[in-house]
Amino acid sequence: MALAGVGVATTHFFVDNSIADSLYLAATAALGISLVISALFIRPDPKVWPFVLAIVAFSVAGQLFDASYDLTENLHVLSDASFFLVQFVLIIGLVIVVSQRLGHDAKGALADGVIIGLGAWVLVWVWLLQPTFGDGSSSSLSTAFRGATLGLSTIVLFLLATLFFSDAVKTTSVVLGGAGIAATLLGDVLFSANLRSDVDVSSSLSDAPYVLGLCLVAASFLHPTIRDITAPATHRQDPPLLTRLITTTLALVLPIAVITATDARDTTDRVVRTVSIVVLAAAVITRVIQSVRDNAKAQASLLRAARLDSLTGLPNRSLMLEHITQAIQDSWKSKRQPTVLFIDVDRFKNINDSLGHMTGDDVLSAVAKRLTNAVTATAIVGRISGDEFVVLDPATETSTEAVLLAEKVLDAFREHMALRQGDMFVSASIGVAMAENDEELSAEDLLRRADTAMYRAKDAGRNCIALYDDSMLERVSQRLSVETALYRALDRRELRLVHQPILDVEIGIVIGFEALMRWTRDDGDVSPAEFIPIAEETGTIVPIGSWAILDALTHLRRWIDSGVVGSQTTMSVNVSPRQLHDPNFVSVVSEALSRSRIAADQLWLEVTESVMMTEPEQALSSLRRLVSLGVRVAIDDFGTGYSSLSLLQKFPIQRIKIDRVFVNNLADDHNSQSLVRTIIAMAESLSLDIVAEGVENREQLRALSLLRCHKAQGYLISHPVSVDAVPSTVAHLENHSEWSALRRGRPS
Ligand code: C2E
Ligand code: MG
Ligand code: MG
Repeated sequence: MALAGVGVATTHFFVDNSIADSLYLAATAALGISLVISALFIRPDPKVWPFVLAIVAFSVAGQLFDASYDLTENLHVLSDASFFLVQFVLIIGLVIVVSQRLGHDAKGALADGVIIGLGAWVLVWVWLLQPTFGDGSSSSLSTAFRGATLGLSTIVLFLLATLFFSDAVKTTSVVLGGAGIAATLLGDVLFSANLRSDVDVSSSLSDAPYVLGLCLVAASFLHPTIRDITAPATHRQDPPLLTRLITTTLALVLPIAVITATDARDTTDRVVRTVSIVVLAAAVITRVIQSVRDNAKAQASLLRAARLDSLTGLPNRSLMLEHITQAIQDSWKSKRQPTVLFIDVDRFKNINDSLGHMTGDDVLSAVAKRLTNAVTATAIVGRISGDEFVVLDPATETSTEAVLLAEKVLDAFREHMALRQGDMFVSASIGVAMAENDEELSAEDLLRRADTAMYRAKDAGRNCIALYDDSMLERVSQRLSVETALYRALDRRELRLVHQPILDVEIGIVIGFEALMRWTRDDGDVSPAEFIPIAEETGTIVPIGSWAILDALTHLRRWIDSGVVGSQTTMSVNVSPRQLHDPNFVSVVSEALSRSRIAADQLWLEVTESVMMTEPEQALSSLRRLVSLGVRVAIDDFGTGYSSLSLLQKFPIQRIKIDRVFVNNLADDHNSQSLVRTIIAMAESLSLDIVAEGVENREQLRALSLLRCHKAQGYLISHPVSVDAVPSTVAHLENHSEWSALRRGRPS
């Protein structure tokens, strides 16, 4: 229909009057039929019909009056009045449609529409209205109607411009209808131009746009999207910014150029021109101010969005620091001591690694919700990174209040979280720090203190609260220096292994060694109890642990080759959970075995019970592969962890090392005796090997012997000794007759 409209309108322009009239009639008929079809089959909102019918009725009336206007002058006036009413009803209809399609940038679209409407008004005035005003060709009433109709046309143009500049989606019906109305506006202009005595526009030219307009409106009513013409436009699309800029600029420049180039004819003309230009200028200025403001607002909201965490919508680190700074500043004038809680979700990495990042995200969102619900309205919750949240309460006054707040937050974790993947319990470690009035503290400092306290809470076993005090900072800085030095310790050859013999007391033979790491720094030795946990946490344990295995096996090979120990002597190396989670660990072990030419069953890997607790599946798969190589696994410090018997059965274990706390009181404490007896009975029933650790005196050794535990290590037998001291230590131990009368010599 739209294409037919273009064709008919073009034809209309070239053919002579009688055919042109038939074409006009055909286009009118096409519109009529389309409207009927639309009403019957497409069924637009019934609200449109009064407008459509009124417009059709007034147009037909106008045409009829116009066709017979030779008869009387009055009919001429009636014709002009009818076209005025068409325009009037059209405006009301358009207002309804446009109001639903203003989109998000309504003010901008309206303002640009106003500028275009005003610009058009100036042109219409200078070119059409003023020259035809009072030239005596028609009655003054008729001229008034015609002038008013043209004036209304500029309002129609304003509405069309607004409609097209808005960022709401334009449906096909809207585009076709809008184009149709625009075509009729062009027709109006050409028709009015014809009334100027100095312009001659043929009716075949001035009617062609009407023909096109009729067809386009007909097409618009035949398209299914006509159903939504009065519905609010929902979707957004990119506003036509460039077209908008060009059109608005033209609407500004053209009128100014025209007004400058032509002289005002009389006082009325001058007044109209001046008022129009002033109003136009005012509209432009308003638009510019509005634009600048909108820009500033958009920028501010972008900035804000950049400071909110995208997952939880909570303030991020930089915004939280600002809030804390503000709270500290405000507290100077009052008794208040703002509290900062540093909250770290316990074992979040495990959740992420074992259940996936989606679950991790769900947990974080749930935590964010819990925290926000747990705190008072004055407190602010933020997420500053990964699993770290911060709560700021600017209104606390005493440390009791601060701790109460922290307890409330910790309580929020007690209940399980219902996630898509099922129920889950999550705990948190909370560090508490307060800004005291008598010291100058930056937001960063306060946050760091809370962070430090949080680490103390983690050290204390997680799921608890720690209140900051100054001694913590010292610990942290010491820890930090250990951490950095540890990174370089391996390169600087500051690490070495010492070896503690494991003796079979019954036969008096050193059956193996446990390799223990030592770190000698410039300022003395660092205890493994201090640096091993840091190495585990930072991951440094992976390279240094690999080094330890190779180094220990290399030395064992040397001792076997030089006859210091028997060829079946074993080497025990401690392995941390982190190493078992390293995908290269199995190949590291097998390479060390092949380089040292030590049989796999001469290597014992000592793991603690904690391995079975955190991420058991990952550790299990590494251990299984190692065991299939022939390597053997010992549970170290048995009895001090939380291993369940079922896990014990599930893990491929060949040895249990009884922790020294049980050995310690063995000689005189019945409880310890029955405990060790139970452990040994259990190990025997599972066919596990047993070694007692930390044997420091003969009574302990005797008690162990009575319980049928013959393998032991401890200060009584030998302290861990350096590599060089191993041969003499072994010789001394094996020549010492007191271990057993049953000494049978070295097994081959
Ligand atoms: P562990 O594996 O249970 O090692 C036994 C610890 O007890 C060693 O402490 C040893 O020196 C000490 N010890 C031995 N006999 C006696 C005794 O009769 N009485 C007392 N009171 N203590 C005794 P050390 O060398 O300080 O190592 C502490 C822990 O550090 C080890 O406990 C082990 O868990 C860890 N560790 C040491 N070296 C390594 C290593 O190379 N890798 C890993 N991952 N951990 C290591
Ligand atoms: Mg050990
Ligand atoms: Mg141990």
